[in-house]
Amino acid sequence: MKALVCTEPLRLEFEQRPDPSAEPGQAILRIRRIGVCGTDLHAYDGTQPYFSYPRILGHELSADIVDIEPGRGFEPGETVTFLPYLNCGQCVACRRGKSNCCVQMQVIGVHVDGGMAEYIRVPVDKLVKSRGLGHDALAMVEPLAIGAHAARIAAIVPGERVLVVGAGPIGMAIMEAAQLQDGEVIALDTQASRLEICRRDGRASYVVNSSNGNVMEHLQEITSGEMPTAVFDATGNLRAIEAGLQYVAHGGRYVLVGLQKAPFAFSHPEFHKRETCLMSSRNATREDFDNVIDAIASGKTEPLTMITHRTEFRDAAAKFPFWLDPVSGVLKAMIHND
Ligand SMILES: [Zn+2]
Ligand SMILES: [Zn+2]
Repeated sequence: MKALVCTEPLRLEFEQRPDPSAEPGQAILRIRRIGVCGTDLHAYDGTQPYFSYPRILGHELSADIVDIEPGRGFEPGETVTFLPYLNCGQCVACRRGKSNCCVQMQVIGVHVDGGMAEYIRVPVDKLVKSRGLGHDALAMVEPLAIGAHAARIAAIVPGERVLVVGAGPIGMAIMEAAQLQDGEVIALDTQASRLEICRRDGRASYVVNSSNGNVMEHLQEITSGEMPTAVFDATGNLRAIEAGLQYVAHGGRYVLVGLQKAPFAFSHPEFHKRETCLMSSRNATREDFDNVIDAIASGKTEPLTMITHRTEFRDAAAKFPFWLDPVSGVLKAMIHND
């Protein structure tokens, strides 16, 4: 099979690899869509922490089943997505139902080879039914589930003000999930174009551009001086993470979703006086996948509006440098493998 391999930073090459062969408990899938994530772009440009090369990228996938053992509830030809998180099932986190933060976590497309290839072999117990969703929507389930997980563990209360810092795909996924929990969403970003998409698609009740004016003043105005009781960082940017604490209401929580490799620092008095609950949110679980698919199937979430760019698999390598450039305006690029 043909695979697109990231051989070293800034280098993607098509390679001929052996077709995956059937093994007990595993399904062979033909990849149909590959969503391009910030993680893929950072792996490509060499800024992803703890990344090793060569690696086949791609973890936001939809596919058709080619081969699967009978009696597992799936049929050849069926369209699926899957959880790309290979957890051990035995560690302290797995035993407590937190498979998303397994001690031995291996994410497909990050720690092990992923879906920028014609075929992939995945454990049958990671497969997720399409429930009538098409290939595009199914490839959007994973990034939406990342946001759904963050909003779920933050336990948004109806009517509470939720600030999402960073209006990229993961930030937008958090916004949608917070709205489904009846939170009142404020979107904060430096890019007017992304905020405009949030407004256009109704993902946020308020948008604040941090390049214009004083963010604190805007937030105080929106919240009648109280500030948001749940703040999410979806930037992974060190300065944004450190600045975010001041936006948290007293008694509120601060959830870090974006990943930053450097240590961060907070003023302890600022942290303490709020009795801040600081959380991080990693990956997602099957429950989050199910919730997202429910939301899409019932029309509460429209995932396709985030797709700004499309390309064929054979052209994907050439597009990566362009997608890295903010001028491209890329929100979600989708690779087709038809
Ligand atoms: Zn991703
Ligand atoms: Zn585990």
